[in-house]
Amino acid sequence: MKKILIGTHNTGKFKEISYLLSKSIKKISPIKFKIKSPKETGKTFSSNAQLKAKYFSKFTKLPVISDDSGICIKALKNQPGIYSARWAKKHGSFSNAMKFILKKIKKKKDRSAVFVCSLSFKYPRKKIVTVVGKIKGKISYEMRGVNGFGYDPIFIPNSGILTFGEMTKSSKISMDHRYIAFKKLKKKIRTL
Ligand code: IMP
Repeated sequence: MKKILIGTHNTGKFKEISYLLSKSIKKISPIKFKIKSPKETGKTFSSNAQLKAKYFSKFTKLPVISDDSGICIKALKNQPGIYSARWAKKHGSFSNAMKFILKKIKKKKDRSAVFVCSLSFKYPRKKIVTVVGKIKGKISYEMRGVNGFGYDPIFIPNSGILTFGEMTKSSKISMDHRYIAFKKLKKKIRTL
């Protein structure tokens, strides 16, 4: 594989997916082709990831990789889930959405959460391959760290004490939900 379109407008995700893919593959952003994002009408992470891969495939003859991801918080009945990006929009910023979450679960004993990533890959005129990666953890008591993106400052994976926002870029990328999904995908598509 020489080139791939990474079907996302989210720069944090674009960087992470680029980092996971083989160095020899040229990574193309939909921004280069002035392609807008599709409407995320799916009800699950996987249906949204597939919808994005199909959508971006229509604009290019390149193979496409896309993801749908988000954070599910037990004390909030697994919200925001597939609405993670939309919550940030609704609250005006990720920082506001995180403040809202911290306030909402302030008195809750169970702070467990899981980051989920569905990754879809599509070759032109071929079936889509979709895999799911999850990482379990808990919500911190305050935002910590300035690295990463999205909800990284409030998520502590079960294996450690630092939030994703406090970890170095390379440690986070080599353990998170996207990495776990990517490992599964690579077993199916060895040229990635
Ligand atoms: P979507 O997949 O485009 O709907 O966006 C998923 C949203 O989930 C992102 O905008 C982030 O808010 C959040 N998210 C997904 N993966 C991560 C991550 O690795 N760190 C922090 N936030 C994430």
